[in-house]
Amino acid sequence: MIGAMLIQRLNEETIGKIAAGEVVERPVSVVKELLENALDAGAKNIDISIEGGGSTSIEVSDDGSGIRSEELSRALERHGTSKLERFEDLLTLATLGFRGEALPSIAAVSRFTMRTRAAGCATGAMVDVEYGTVAPIQSVAAPFGTTVTVRDLFGNVPARRKFLRQASTESTYITRAVGAYAAAYPHVRFSLSQEGRSSFTTDGAGDFVAAAVGVYGSDYGRDLLELKTLDDGAAVLGVSVTGWIGVPSLTKSHRQGMHFMVNGRWVQNRALNFALEEAYHSLIMVGRHPVALIRIQVDPADVDVNVHPTKAEVRFRDERAVCRAVQRTAHAALSRAPRVDLPVIQWEPKRQDSEQSRLGLTTVSIPSRIERPDADDHEATEAPSGPTAGVPILRVLGQVGASFIIAEGPEGMYLVDQHAAHERVLFERIMTQLANRSVDQQPLLDPLIVELAPDELAMWERSAAELTAIGYEIESFGEGAVLVRAVPAVALGGDLAGRLRAILRDLVEGGTGQSWLESVAISAACHTSIRAGQSLSLEEMRELIADLERSNQPRACGHGRPTMLQLTREELARQFARR
Ligand code: ADP
Ligand code: MG
Repeated sequence: MIGAMLIQRLNEETIGKIAAGEVVERPVSVVKELLENALDAGAKNIDISIEGGGSTSIEVSDDGSGIRSEELSRALERHGTSKLERFEDLLTLATLGFRGEALPSIAAVSRFTMRTRAAGCATGAMVDVEYGTVAPIQSVAAPFGTTVTVRDLFGNVPARRKFLRQASTESTYITRAVGAYAAAYPHVRFSLSQEGRSSFTTDGAGDFVAAAVGVYGSDYGRDLLELKTLDDGAAVLGVSVTGWIGVPSLTKSHRQGMHFMVNGRWVQNRALNFALEEAYHSLIMVGRHPVALIRIQVDPADVDVNVHPTKAEVRFRDERAVCRAVQRTAHAALSRAPRVDLPVIQWEPKRQDSEQSRLGLTTVSIPSRIERPDADDHEATEAPSGPTAGVPILRVLGQVGASFIIAEGPEGMYLVDQHAAHERVLFERIMTQLANRSVDQQPLLDPLIVELAPDELAMWERSAAELTAIGYEIESFGEGAVLVRAVPAVALGGDLAGRLRAILRDLVEGGTGQSWLESVAISAACHTSIRAGQSLSLEEMRELIADLERSNQPRACGHGRPTMLQLTREELARQFARR
């Protein structure tokens, strides 16, 4: 038995370390807090430099308001803040910070220096804090603004230091966080340097695309779609969404390229990720993720920022409304960009063979060339509307390898994957019929008995309602078999039993739609469409291309694979040395 324990109050040093553990998880947490302070101080220029992945040193320098020397010790006290007076102020909070915890927490676990000078002050002030012990404030010469240096982070908390990843990994976190802020605040000039090398700079001129290019490189310049305020009819009350998203061909294998800022603060939120990805649904391949910088503005009273120690998560009063606004805004941007994700075939001269200067096809399916719809008149004349958005009228020339249709359009040559194209057409036809509640069903004169493997049978049971919805009429037929009485009209012809089994097999492997109904429709479209290797008459090809031109999303099949490649006229001319 353990006897009654003495209850003692923790000493200040221990309290400091424990509290610091909440706010300062790793170097990037320090960077984020210092950045937010600089932005709250109204800085127009912020320079960040990092050594040793942030554990050796972090320095953030700004030209913001600065702190008057008589206020400086307050700033370092726990709960010392200039941003909040009463709890109710959180309802109208316009700043990123509010708890007054960051500086004391950081200073409790590092060798901390702050040098600052406020407007109107003849001299600056400087303070050193060594693992929580504050030295007397000194008067020093300093430029207007504030520079904070944090050295030997967690030097007094070895356990925490052990949990840090390699410096290069911590650096990646820092680059990602600073990048998000730099892209979200285009009016502020940012520079980040790590281990003595410049990682990126932005120009602070106020242009979103320029800021994104500064942070992420010139690829982003042509591949971004700016988000525009929705029309009154589509707008979600009380939520404004700005920023940009990438075109569907600019994808990543992870979700780290998606950033959300809520009232100026960088947050992590799965529901928002999900809402954005839904807008891209069927435009990008399964397993790929879009890039985006989305700034959401809501009434501070509609969002609780006080639910997470590092303020990395927020809780919305109406999360669904916010998600709806994000999805609609992204969707509108994607549908304004008709030609965006046609992969362009790129031809490159074979370098080693310069004498003959032969040309070889080196890359297919590289990201597209996108003309950003930057000029309004350009948009007015060029943006197609209605069902033909996305593919120009094409003239069919022929078929290659019984799998691809060659066609010509106003902007060059197109190679259309006949299977993917037909799959898209059938998928949309099924979805339209579902939406109109008028599914075209074809009863079979001779009901068909189809034998199913156990997992196929189980899948039929799971998907019976969805199969019925798209036009199948199937009933159980004793051990391991079903009786098919009717099929969707789009699925008529060919090997009906084989197709049904293929659909069920496909679903056993997992659905790819937004709903199970959509997954079933995608599989049905896939397994009832024209296959590769099937030769088509000119008439059949024309019909397919015409159907594709009328599709809403002609550029990708239901699974997200591209339906076509394009070789522009310029590219042809260039390759034949005509330009
Ligand atoms: P909070 O940001 O929650 O108020 P902090 O501990 O981060 O708490 O900062 C405490 C106070 O120090 C702030 O309220 C602000 O008045 C001042 N301060 C911190 N950093 C800066 C800065 N870079 N420029 C001007 N004032 C700052
Ligand atoms: Mg702060």
